[in-house]
Amino acid sequence: SRYTKKDIIRMAEEEDVEFIRLQFTDIFGMLKNVAVTASQLEKALNNRCMFDGSAIEGFVRIEESDMYLYPDLDTFAIFPWRPQQGKVARLMCDVYRPNGEPFEGDPRYVLKKVLKEAADMGYEFHVGPECEFFLFHTDEEGRPTTNTHENASYFDVGPIDLAENVRRDIVLNLEDMDIEVEASHHELSPAQHEIDLEYTEGLAAADNIMTFKMAVKTIAKRHGLHATFMPKPKAGMNGSGMHINMSLADAHGKNLFVDDNDSLGLSKVAYQFMAGILAHIREITLLTNPLVNSYKRLVPGYDAPVCVAWSAHANRSALIRIPSARGEDSTRIELRCPDSAVNPYLALAACLAAGLDGIKKEMTPPASVDCNVFAMTDEEMRTLGIEQLPQTLGEAIEAFEGSAFAKELLGDHIYTKYLEAKSAEWKKFRAEVTDWEVQEYLYKF
Ligand code: GLU
Ligand code: MG
Ligand code: MG
Repeated sequence: SRYTKKDIIRMAEEEDVEFIRLQFTDIFGMLKNVAVTASQLEKALNNRCMFDGSAIEGFVRIEESDMYLYPDLDTFAIFPWRPQQGKVARLMCDVYRPNGEPFEGDPRYVLKKVLKEAADMGYEFHVGPECEFFLFHTDEEGRPTTNTHENASYFDVGPIDLAENVRRDIVLNLEDMDIEVEASHHELSPAQHEIDLEYTEGLAAADNIMTFKMAVKTIAKRHGLHATFMPKPKAGMNGSGMHINMSLADAHGKNLFVDDNDSLGLSKVAYQFMAGILAHIREITLLTNPLVNSYKRLVPGYDAPVCVAWSAHANRSALIRIPSARGEDSTRIELRCPDSAVNPYLALAACLAAGLDGIKKEMTPPASVDCNVFAMTDEEMRTLGIEQLPQTLGEAIEAFEGSAFAKELLGDHIYTKYLEAKSAEWKKFRAEVTDWEVQEYLYKF
């Protein structure tokens, strides 16, 4: 690993770090933390910091509530946006039971398990997420709204783009934490933005997504704005996705998706990996698109996928796109359904496990679909054998519920808790009467 305990104690001293945030993620993707002072750092590094697991949604019952935080030393990083005297640093933690066993309800544990399986097969998982979000105004009481007076669109520049300084601030802060940013720009909808994180190893990628969301929200707030990763905050315009670029490398970092002899420049492993994702995606859509609202984004006409197809020619209506850049640094597949409301540990674990299954079973992907799928009728799709993604949270739950693959991937604990919580969410939504219904029906009927 990159750092030893000694290194961390020294860095904390040299950098005048006064608070250390021991962070972890609940199964629904919420970042949690407890701050300890520098005087407790050694204790924390010796895995002796405890918390009440029963207070975290989806963790444990009250009778078995003691949980321990084991910091991952390599994740030590200072928050540049906190005061620079008496600084604040973070350590991402794994969650353990008092008997020293990893807690099977910790999503980071699930991802680590799949990464280990990949490593045993000779693969390292490389991930580059593209996170989209909106920056909205708050009301007089400081509560978030969906208001903006911005009118900028894709790739627009200031002064039409009102948030160039917010993005600049976010990117500089992330780089300060060694989270490399590949690109940032205004997105299609007014007040919508995108920041693409540099390709990195799977676990670091998930940790970075958690830190990224925290940074974006914190820095936006400083600029008087509310940042939201809600998948579809406004009907009638593009929602926010979190496309995931993926590839496998060997132990020396060589990209195993490259094959110059193939007409698309893709290796057999790349095709098998992609086939595995296409085969399993409906069972894991609940993990890549976890909210009632996620499915408002997955509708035709808004650059988000609606069916299970891949495109060799950068077709943006497809579920998986092969971006046109090729070569050791660039050859990858882009999965377009996920949104930023995911638990990134579970979503990345699901994608990797699906891809590995494709390799193990030597799957071949169906023919690529290179026309605009949005323009196809359901009939045409059926004739071509193209399946639809789940259209509601309810459908996604159904596909997840019947899935031995999802259960195996998550383990009993997370699988059951996740299913229970999502079923309750769906049940609650079904009992709601929406503004749309009132507008549409109150007068007519
Ligand atoms: N915002 C679109 C989505 O919902 C994606 C736009 C793009 O291609 O970057 O996924
Ligand atoms: Mg985008
Ligand atoms: Mg993209």
